[in-house]
Amino acid sequence: MPEALHFIANTRGLFGDAAEIPVIDPTTATVVGHAAAGSAATVDRAVAAASSAQPGWAESAPAERAAALTRLADGLEAASDRLTDVLAAELGMPRALCQAVQIDPAVEVLRDTAEAVPAYRFVETLRNSTVYRVPVGVVGGITPWNYPLLQVACKLAPAVAAGCAIVLKVSEATPFSIDVLCDALADCGLPPGVVNILHGTGPVAGAALAAHPRVRKVSFTGSTAVGKAVAARAAEDIKRVSLELGGKSAMLVLPDCDPAPAVDWTVDNVLVNSGQTCSALTRLIVPHSQHDAVAERAAAALARWPVGDPRDPATRTGPLVTARQQGRVAGYIEAGLAGGARLVAGGPGSPAGLNHGCFVRPTVFAQVDPATVIAQEEIFGPVLAILSYPDGAPEAGLAIANGTAYGLYGAVWGPDTAAAARVARRMQAGQVEVNGAPVNSLAPFGGLKQSGYGREGGPFAIDDYVELQAIQLPVEAG
Ligand code: NAD
Repeated sequence: MPEALHFIANTRGLFGDAAEIPVIDPTTATVVGHAAAGSAATVDRAVAAASSAQPGWAESAPAERAAALTRLADGLEAASDRLTDVLAAELGMPRALCQAVQIDPAVEVLRDTAEAVPAYRFVETLRNSTVYRVPVGVVGGITPWNYPLLQVACKLAPAVAAGCAIVLKVSEATPFSIDVLCDALADCGLPPGVVNILHGTGPVAGAALAAHPRVRKVSFTGSTAVGKAVAARAAEDIKRVSLELGGKSAMLVLPDCDPAPAVDWTVDNVLVNSGQTCSALTRLIVPHSQHDAVAERAAAALARWPVGDPRDPATRTGPLVTARQQGRVAGYIEAGLAGGARLVAGGPGSPAGLNHGCFVRPTVFAQVDPATVIAQEEIFGPVLAILSYPDGAPEAGLAIANGTAYGLYGAVWGPDTAAAARVARRMQAGQVEVNGAPVNSLAPFGGLKQSGYGREGGPFAIDDYVELQAIQLPVEAG
């Protein structure tokens, strides 16, 4: 029987891998610890443990799966204080927002999935066929750093619910919050080998997991560039693949309404987690006659998002996660200026008094040309682009909204909710919110176009972890 790995995260060296990946505190840009560098051999051991657990877990009762997920949610919730400390240190997440932004959504996904299990149709009958939804087999999950707990929960929960064992290669930038999650896993009653979590770099551990012959499905969340490589590799042995990739989501404000609430909503949406959110509404598209007033209001709304040390209770915008991300976002701010957009707030350089960490200035650009880099590419930082369409031609606004390679998320704001919902139906995005509607964690989340394929969250996510098998029985005569 391979070793039981389900509670082990190898930041603690329990796989024997050297802890050699430096993890920085982005507020000070100093190293605060190391994650172990999992190798291809580490991946092999984890996949062996999962493969060994797979047949038994596939036979487990759905109620047992649901109960384990509920206990895991309880354990994660109970660790909130620790997680708040850790996420401030490794991600730069403001403590004041951590519970609502990072912890609660992860707990919710675990609970929602547990609650969906009893009603999930693992078996149904169609004429003389019995159709079984059977676990796809061992899953390889690869996750990023921006919502480290949520993204692990979004893969672990439906995999466990479907009866799959899973190996997760989590982000090397935020390993310590996952250690806390592993403690909760150790206490949730899952059999050994059902969930295995390891650390390592993408090109070594991630690539080995995506290529492993005993992994039957890869579920990847991260950049579109890496997603393409993962899918190409998986195609070689016809693995199932889900990809949750980048976005360039739009808020489309329709004519004949006061844009102020839409502007405030959009700024809040972009600034959460310092703009490091795949579904952030980073393009605000408004009627031309409202453009200047909208730009002024957006700049003023930044005052609600003070930048600073995440441990200061007044801070709502922390640093970016790494110096690499800081450099990337700074490059896009320069590209905005070079592309002729009008800077209305923020701009190059660091916020006052914050020269040492990975900070950027929250930035608003107006009069953005839809064809330019900052209107087309995902920035993944606190940068908002305001674009406009001719008054009375909302079709032109919709065309701008749909005019990128991405299709993850969107929003429509208008004077008539039913009419706005009709426009939302024509937005090329996996989810669209209308007039500030709240996020619904039961709704399927995922992308169209180059934002990927597959869905996470709620009962639909389980579909991505099952195969259909139909058994036909003879039809009795008479
Ligand atoms: P990334 O693609 O660099 O890394 C994501 C994960 O993939 C990490 O665990 C990384 O180690 C691993 N990885 C890197 N190279 C790999 C390789 N060659 N083979 C296998 N695995 C590899 O992305 P990131 O910088 O960590 O995260 C930011 C990106 O993720 C953004 O583009 C963002 O939009 C996207 N994202 C999407 C969603 C979503 O749900 N759609 C959610 C969060 C983040």
